[in-house]
Amino acid sequence: MKLLNLRNKLKKEFELNGIEVSDADFIVAGCLGVNRTELTLIDEIDKKTETQILKLVNQRLNHKPVDILFKQTYFYGLKFKVNKHVLTPRQDSETVVEQAINIVKQNNLTSVLDLCCGSGCLAITIAKNTNAKVTASDISFKALKVAKENSVFNKVGVKFIKSNLFNNIKDKFNLIISNPPYIETNTLATLDQEVQKYDPALALDGGEDGLDFYRKIETEADNFLTEDGYLVLEIGFNQKTAVKKIFKNWTFVDCIKDLNKKDRAIIFRR
Ligand code: GLN
Repeated sequence: MKLLNLRNKLKKEFELNGIEVSDADFIVAGCLGVNRTELTLIDEIDKKTETQILKLVNQRLNHKPVDILFKQTYFYGLKFKVNKHVLTPRQDSETVVEQAINIVKQNNLTSVLDLCCGSGCLAITIAKNTNAKVTASDISFKALKVAKENSVFNKVGVKFIKSNLFNNIKDKFNLIISNPPYIETNTLATLDQEVQKYDPALALDGGEDGLDFYRKIETEADNFLTEDGYLVLEIGFNQKTAVKKIFKNWTFVDCIKDLNKKDRAIIFRR
């Protein structure tokens, strides 16, 4: 079959079904093992390749995200394995990790803890871009398995601890970073099918008002931070005021917007 005809057919089908049209070329390119910009160089594809493409296209039409189809994604220029046991790294979180990297570098910080690490994208990105010793924890054994694989793949030494927040954490750190679950329980059912089906609810559900984890972190973080330690947290776009209120006994440093101009990273000091 002519590749151009197939691509056009798929794009129409995706548009009709309300699926991101550019995903069609992502899938085709992924199956052919080429860059999307190289697709125009290919004229014909064989039946076997077409069947393989259509199989993935069907899964995408059933709302399986492209990252999960190919079991990988990119975050801050690094490649990460993903599956349904971890929250797929979001571009929004690059703003959060960037803040942490800047703070670590500017202050020569030597130890960082990532709570609720999921795929490990925050911890591994910090380890790759700074000289700090990084520890990462998560309550989910299956998530930690993915995070460990990602640290090996990205060739960084991160210490992993299975822990419900601070339960199994012993040391003190210069900086604690976390992208905790922060979606209100009632909102979960309104999220995209892609998120509902393929991101773990455990990584999203922040309780009735979405703020459970900020309250828990606020209560305990003090015991796990060195004097003058930093706390860098990802928040939902509408949570700045509420989170500042929870951390009223802390020194507010800054709240940084993501690329969509939404409040995303909030920074406190003891
Ligand atoms: N930003 C994620 C989403 O929109 C939520 C991440 C979280 O709860 N920590 O799906």
